Amino acid sequence: MRRAFPLAVLLAVCASLSARADLTDACWSLVYRQPAAGLTEADRVIAATNAAHDDIHRADAHLCRGAALEQLGRPIEAQQEYEFGISEGTRLHYDPLVAAGLRLRGELRYYRGLMNDSLADLQRSYRLYTALQRAKEARSALESIANVYADARVGDFDRAIEYYEQILRENPSPSDEELSTGYFNIASTMERKGDLKGALVEYQRGLEIDRKRHEPGEVAVDQRAIASLLGRLGRPAEGLRYVNAALGYLEQQHAVETAAQAHLTRGGLLRRLGRWSAALDDLEIARKRFEETKNARFLEKTQEERSLAFAGAGRWQEAFEAQAAQMALRGELEEKLKEEQTARLRVQFDSEKKEQENRALLRENELRDQALRAATRVRQLQTIVIILGTLVIAALAYLVVKHIANANRMRVMAMTDELTKLPNRRHVLMVAADSVAFARQHATPLSLLMLDIDLFKRINDRFGHDTGDAVLRRVADAGRASLRRREDVMGRTGGEEFIVVLPRTDAQSALDVAERLRTSVEAIDCSDLHPELRVTISIGIAAWTSGEAVDALLKRADELLYRAKERGRNRVEMEVAFA
Ligand code: GH3
Ligand code: MG
Ligand code: MG
Repeated sequence: MRRAFPLAVLLAVCASLSARADLTDACWSLVYRQPAAGLTEADRVIAATNAAHDDIHRADAHLCRGAALEQLGRPIEAQQEYEFGISEGTRLHYDPLVAAGLRLRGELRYYRGLMNDSLADLQRSYRLYTALQRAKEARSALESIANVYADARVGDFDRAIEYYEQILRENPSPSDEELSTGYFNIASTMERKGDLKGALVEYQRGLEIDRKRHEPGEVAVDQRAIASLLGRLGRPAEGLRYVNAALGYLEQQHAVETAAQAHLTRGGLLRRLGRWSAALDDLEIARKRFEETKNARFLEKTQEERSLAFAGAGRWQEAFEAQAAQMALRGELEEKLKEEQTARLRVQFDSEKKEQENRALLRENELRDQALRAATRVRQLQTIVIILGTLVIAALAYLVVKHIANANRMRVMAMTDELTKLPNRRHVLMVAADSVAFARQHATPLSLLMLDIDLFKRINDRFGHDTGDAVLRRVADAGRASLRRREDVMGRTGGEEFIVVLPRTDAQSALDVAERLRTSVEAIDCSDLHPELRVTISIGIAAWTSGEAVDALLKRADELLYRAKERGRNRVEMEVAFA
């Protein structure tokens, strides 16, 4: 989500509204740019206000101290400062302080994954600002609420969109920046919700405004989002134009992280266009950068795209590796989500106790009602969290199953000939070698057929390559139909050449099989392809002789196939001794 009103600005405004503005102003203006200096300044103001018994400014300084601590990566202490500010504001009946504290604590709780606690805070903050008639701060709090609803972990997208729209509607004179932020937020929420067409319209609106504002950075962000969306809409070629424009700007600006996202987007689009190697170049750049910045969420998406692109390019081993990397990252992310939810349950008990103490101090009926309404929402959200937890476990189980299925699918694909769906050369030669080993070990017979379609070049030349392909598929089907035993394996070894391995089959039975194959091919009906199209095959049969190596067996079958061709084609040849 983009933010229209940076918190720093908002809080500076809050502070300036209090009676003696100068006291905490310096702290608030430092805190987001130089948090360490902000912390020192906060301590100074706290000491001064302590001496002067100026409780309101002291509490405000504590809020500022909390913000500095949060920036410095010390969230637990930050939360304590916010809580102090809230309770002081309540004690002193000074609502601007309570509202600001709740807003800060709500944001912090959101970043810590405590969704329903966050919502309860932000809603109270929003209501207080509304009652205080501070429209701008109220809109800003409402936007934070909408951001929580739009988060995939809460997933109340319709409500989020409703709020984003309300923010725009209730703003009497929105700036272009506010408008473009609003459209972008609505668009990305619609996209998450699955309303891709609606999202496109909103992104385009935002883009138009950002162009008018001459904000090239924002334009690039819009363009990248639109490109990714067009990919999902099945319009990758259009998407490419947008992402190329965005990348031009981002690389020139050395915007590492956003540029990496744009490379990821372009990689995905090129992959959808079947431009594997270009796609893989982009994805490799994205992978390196996300690895450097340790961005697990985007790294996971990148590995998924790489796996798909490698698979598209037929590079199975690398596809498999990328997929394994993706699964590992997905596992880590799910694990983290689970941890956050557990932490949430732990914190809840403490915070509920404090809420009760605070509630006793609430002075107005109105506020009590609001707290009650918030509590109802909390309960609803608790149910959602429990359901989400269950779903996470179900999703993990599903992923494991899918992972195994994918691995199997890739293994099968790596051993299968794409056109005929028969075992490919590598596979059938492996079967032949295994069968020779078995025959040697168990002293059983074994035969091997070598097949070649007759005058296939002429079929291609006369009827076209596509017809040739269709003929190959039909010959494969005829082969499959005439091989009745499960052990018999037919594979495609070359353009129009096939091998059939017949374990535990002697020369005489092999001759029956070969004849059956030959006649079934001869009987293939090709009249739908061309009235004059006829297909025949020639076959060489070699029966394994004790001690013979697989290469020798293959060579003999090949020589006999050659003899069948010489002797007029559409015939079967085998060693004279058996004929
Ligand atoms: P012969 O009876 O002596 O085997 O004659 P032939 O024309 O079948 O033999 P040749 O080896 O000269 O021709 C094989 C042809 O098969 C040449 C090649 O263009 C074609 N071919 C190879 N793979 C494919 C394929 O996947 N699809 C199609 N349509 N044709 C292929
Ligand atoms: Mg050939
Ligand atoms: Mg041929």
